[in-house]
Amino acid sequence: MDYESMFEQAIAALKQEKRYRVFTELGRHAGNFPKATRHLEDGSTQDITIWCSNDYLGMGQHPDVLQAIKEATDTYGAGAGGTRNISGNTRMICELERELADLHQTEAALVFTSGFVSNDATLSTLGKLLPGCVILSDELNHASMIDGVRHSGCEKRIFRHNDARDLEDKLKTIAPDRPKVIAFESVYSMDGDISPIKEFCDLADKYNAMTYLDEVHAVGLYGPRGGGVAEREGLMHRIDIIEGTLGKAFGVVGGFITAKQCIVDAIRSYASGFIFTTTLSPVMSAGALASVRHLKNSQVERDCHQERAATLKRLLAEAGLPVLPSVTHIVPLMVYDAELCKQASDMLLDDYGLYIQPINYPTVPRGLERLRITPTPFHDDAMMAELTSALKDVWLRLELRQAA
Ligand code: PLP
Repeated sequence: MDYESMFEQAIAALKQEKRYRVFTELGRHAGNFPKATRHLEDGSTQDITIWCSNDYLGMGQHPDVLQAIKEATDTYGAGAGGTRNISGNTRMICELERELADLHQTEAALVFTSGFVSNDATLSTLGKLLPGCVILSDELNHASMIDGVRHSGCEKRIFRHNDARDLEDKLKTIAPDRPKVIAFESVYSMDGDISPIKEFCDLADKYNAMTYLDEVHAVGLYGPRGGGVAEREGLMHRIDIIEGTLGKAFGVVGGFITAKQCIVDAIRSYASGFIFTTTLSPVMSAGALASVRHLKNSQVERDCHQERAATLKRLLAEAGLPVLPSVTHIVPLMVYDAELCKQASDMLLDDYGLYIQPINYPTVPRGLERLRITPTPFHDDAMMAELTSALKDVWLRLELRQAA
C-alpha cells in the first residue's frame, strides 16, 4: 500500500483546484497593532500591515488584558493541569463563567477550548439528550455547527439562509411532540449580513422549538455591553443557548455557551468535547476575563470600529472596487475567481506589505471568492488611503472585475 502517494494526491487535488492554502509566518508587534513582521523562507523579513485579523478590536494587545495575563502567570503558572474531571475548576475559569453568564443576562456559562469546540460539543450533545430531536440549521452555518449537528446523529433540516418563511415551512412538517432546535448565527462572517433573530424567536415560540444562536462574530462588538446582536435588539432573553468565542473580539482564545443552569449542567455532564480535554489555561482565562470586563464597560472601541468599517466601505466603493454592502464590520471585496484571489492576496503582501488572506471554497461557494477585510479601530485614515490605492493598482494589474 502506497500511503504517501494517497496524501500527495489529496494535496495535488487542492493545488489543481487552486485552493491549496499557504499561511504566512507573522510576528505581531505587541502595542503596535496592526503592524507585524513577516518572516520569509529565505530568512529575510518584511514589515507589514494586517488587514484580515479577527482580533476585531485589537483586544489581544490591550494593556488590561496583557496585565491580567502577566499576573495570572505569576500567580497560577501556565496550564490548567488537565481536564476538569481530573483537575477541578480553576479559579479564573469560574470567574470567567460568572462574567459571561452576566454578559448574556442568564444563569450559567460553560467555557470550552475554542468556539469550534463549543459548537460541536453543545449541538452534538443537545441532539443526544433530546429524544427524537430535529435540528433546523441555516444553510450557511459555520463548519463547527455543521459538525455538531452531524455528530448529534439526529435528524436535521437545512433551511435557506436567513429565510424565516422556509424555516416555518420546515417547522410545520415536524410532529408537534418532537423536540426541535433552531440553530443559526447572528453575524455571518463572510457576507457580513445579520439574521432575523426576532422572527426566528417568534417561530420558535409558535412551534415550541429551542433557539441556539452563534454570536461568534458579534460578542464584544454589538450591544451596549458587548453581548452581541441579540443584546442590541433586546432579544437575549428569548435565546435558549448563546454560543460565542473568546478568540475574536475578545482577542484571546477559547469558546463558551451561556444558558439556564439546567442546560449548562447537562452539557457539562454529557459533552465529550468538554469532559475529555484539558481546560483553557488560567492565564488565558484571566486575559479573556479582563477583555470581557473591559468591553462591558467601554463603548469607545465599538463606536470606533463601526466608524472605521463604514469609512473603508465608502472609500472602496468610491474607488469603483466591488465591495459587498455589508451591514456589519466585515468588508468583503469580491474577486469571483480562486486563482486570481490568491494572486491578488500575494501581490498585496509581496509588493505593498498588506496582508489579506484569500477566501476560497469551501469557506465561500466556488465563484464567490473574495478578500475579506476587517478594519479595526487601529486602522487609521493613512492606512486606509494606502490600502485603497494598492487595491486599485492590483485590480488594474490583474484586470479584476470592477463594481457593477
Ligand atoms: N462560529 C463561527 C460562526 C465562526 O466563524 C468560527 C470561527 O471562525 C467559530 C464558530 C469557531 O470559533 P473559534 O475560532 O473560537 O474556534
